[in-house]
Amino acid sequence: MAKFVGAHVSASGGVHNAPKNAEAIGAKAFALFTKNQRQWKAKPLAKEHIDAFNEHVQKAGIDKKHILPHDSYLINLGHPDDAQRQKSLDAFIDEVQRCELLGLDKLNFHPGSHLRKISEEECLDRIADAMNESLRQSDSVTLVIENTAGQGSNLGYKFEHLWYLIDKTNDKSRVGVCLDTAHMFAAGYDIRTREAYEATMREFDEIVGFEYLKGMHINDSKAKFASRVDRHHSLGMGEIGLDAFRFIMNDERLNNIPLILETIDDTIWDKEIALLYSFMED
Ligand SMILES: [Zn+2]
Ligand SMILES: [Zn+2]
Repeated sequence: MAKFVGAHVSASGGVHNAPKNAEAIGAKAFALFTKNQRQWKAKPLAKEHIDAFNEHVQKAGIDKKHILPHDSYLINLGHPDDAQRQKSLDAFIDEVQRCELLGLDKLNFHPGSHLRKISEEECLDRIADAMNESLRQSDSVTLVIENTAGQGSNLGYKFEHLWYLIDKTNDKSRVGVCLDTAHMFAAGYDIRTREAYEATMREFDEIVGFEYLKGMHINDSKAKFASRVDRHHSLGMGEIGLDAFRFIMNDERLNNIPLILETIDDTIWDKEIALLYSFMED
């Protein structure tokens, strides 16, 4: 089986609890925050927690390549204010280094927001510079840019933004993207029918390229098509509908990458994971 489905599980009580929570819902992949996502500062990871994390990942039978850590929501690498941007960059580099300590090879982040104070291009340039600085100050983690719904002044809602950032980074072997289906849909990329799905994926391949796709977030959307509103929903209960997820589970281009649920009802994640696997035709 070449599909690795899981969810963004809780790491409350310590990072070692994330693989336990993943195992409990039958996940073959998972996402986590390596620190409290609503606080700037975090204590360094304790050796006992790192050891327990490794032990539980192994017990859960999950390959570390299928773990996709997510950075803090506070971080804005494109912040128009220099001091605020530096604060974000310092926190981001700390997160990259936490991933390295956990032996994880990816960090998923939202590009950033111009807050209507600078142009989109200036903001993207600030993000790209921050990415280059983070790559310089780390050894192995791949920076995985997530597409956004384009709510507020958030960038990353066009495939062109994702490519712009990749193109400006000095080490392309350590950058990639994560496609969030709810964000894609709210940003105006339709995936509801076979034709729409194929056209959107073709566009992604032409502008960014599947070789850069390092993960996906599998969410239905409460927000309407092209609404630029970021509201996730449980699979089949939102505006996208189940067919899109059937196409995803049978798309070979999406093999061997983490496919992560961020749907709103965590009590049914086990059923959603089983549902997704049931869509596989062979
Ligand atoms: Zn995200
Ligand atoms: Zn997401």
